[in-house]
Amino acid sequence: MNRRDFNKLLIFTIFYNYSKSNLLANKQIENQLTNYGENLLTLPDNLSDTALYINKDIEKPNKIQKYYLTLDDGYFYQEEMINIANEKNIKLNLFIIGKIIEQDPKLWLSAIEHGHLLGSHTYSHLIFSKNSYQKIKTDFEIYKQKISNVIGLENFQKIKYFRFPYGDEGSKRNKQDINKLITETYGWNIVRWDLDLSFNHQVKVRSFSHNEQIATYKHYCNNTKIDKNVILLHFKQPDNLCLKSFIDFGLEQNFEFMRLDDKKDINLLFEKENIINNDDFESHKFIL
Ligand SMILES: [Zn+2]
Repeated sequence: MNRRDFNKLLIFTIFYNYSKSNLLANKQIENQLTNYGENLLTLPDNLSDTALYINKDIEKPNKIQKYYLTLDDGYFYQEEMINIANEKNIKLNLFIIGKIIEQDPKLWLSAIEHGHLLGSHTYSHLIFSKNSYQKIKTDFEIYKQKISNVIGLENFQKIKYFRFPYGDEGSKRNKQDINKLITETYGWNIVRWDLDLSFNHQVKVRSFSHNEQIATYKHYCNNTKIDKNVILLHFKQPDNLCLKSFIDFGLEQNFEFMRLDDKKDINLLFEKENIINNDDFESHKFIL
């Protein structure tokens, strides 16, 4: 069986077994996937048409590349991950949940002082497609009131970017109003992502292993278009390891790691589509 057939069979088997709630079979698949992730490290360069979680939009490798490291939520390993970047003089783009900022504002103020960019990720990380526009609007008002209070109005006014919780942009019913709220009322730029190194959405929002993360970003960096460079990580394991290895790898390759406001052609951010399925939200929520 070639690898493409293997992938098809794997996806079908996963779907079949999840639907049957067969725990034993799921465990076996988990092991298979772990092995698959490790195998990715040794696959040849023609990996592009076989990898499960890599964008098919492939071009020649880039010599000089810029990356935007974006880190969401803020639950775990905050100091460790920010210090990794500080030690290498790398600037991060932080989309921290308002409630989390409120718990320890000094930590995030220190990050801002070190030159990292703070973006909005809402106050309470609501699932937009499952909440009313009014509830979301109220969440934004609470975010503004509480966060400008704890980080200061001047720092709050420097917030220019927004990321949707769970990548969920809303339902048909409220999507348009939400978009207006973000871009017009608050004047924030919507930031999606090109490469999610935290979760493997092909397999029901399963967290990547560290080996999978390394294999995925190395392949991505070597094969992806120059403007596909917004990377998504979270403050969690193994993303703390991934951040360090990505920065080390990037510095060896002469990559530049940038703040989003260093990006000249910001419109590119509006063209990208990285929306996960509604079914994934609960499990993502469970993980985070
Ligand atoms: Zn989030």
